[in-house]
Amino acid sequence: MPSIKKNLDRILGNLPEGVTLVAVSKTKPVEMIQEAYDAGQRHFGENRPQEMKQKYAELPEDIYWHMIGHLQTNKVKYIIDFVYLIHSVDRLDLLEEIEKRAARIDRKVDVLLQVHIAQEEQKFGFEKEQLMGLIPKGEFDQFEHVNIKGLMAMATFTEDMDQVRSEFRELKSIFDSILELKDNKTLDMRIISMGMSGDFQVAIEEGSNMVRIGSSIFGARK
Ligand SMILES: *Cc1c(COP(=O)(O)O)cnc(C)c1O
Repeated sequence: MPSIKKNLDRILGNLPEGVTLVAVSKTKPVEMIQEAYDAGQRHFGENRPQEMKQKYAELPEDIYWHMIGHLQTNKVKYIIDFVYLIHSVDRLDLLEEIEKRAARIDRKVDVLLQVHIAQEEQKFGFEKEQLMGLIPKGEFDQFEHVNIKGLMAMATFTEDMDQVRSEFRELKSIFDSILELKDNKTLDMRIISMGMSGDFQVAIEEGSNMVRIGSSIFGARK
């Protein structure tokens, strides 16, 4: 059976320079995360705040913890002290809560805005038009303890790679449009988080610089 280290080496060998690998360890035990850590991996992604907090407490301190799952406002408190990057900011009231909690501990927290590019209704994120409307209105300029570092999205769950590719291309085009917006004072566009086990190669071809890979490293989840 291929080890976690072998899986990591294989994936890292396929990532161009400048693309960060977030190893998605949700539902997996700390022993497996430790194994990946011992192989040199430092960025890990989780989707449940309490699970992430528990793992943070048990694992080495120099791990970068990424929150990638839908985040309820009342759960921000579990991760605010230590989270490295919140990928899944999909509404203004979540930003307000992050701001409030970060201000209390005098921390600046890095986040990405999640954009809805998939066909599935149930996926979260700002719609493109909504986002492009909020920026010039200055809606993102009020957060002193939040750094908005880029965008995140998930493609439609489908075998149709042309569909997936066109959705990733759409995210890159939104990213580029924001870069060109003259009245954007706040969004510090650096990170495009897109690509998972089944589609990260396509995501990289379309401009991703952060991939979130779980099952190809740790095996299938139950
Ligand atoms: C679970 C998850 C991943 C990783 O998915 P795999 O197919 O296991 O690589 C990536 N991004 C998000 C938002 C996830 O919830």
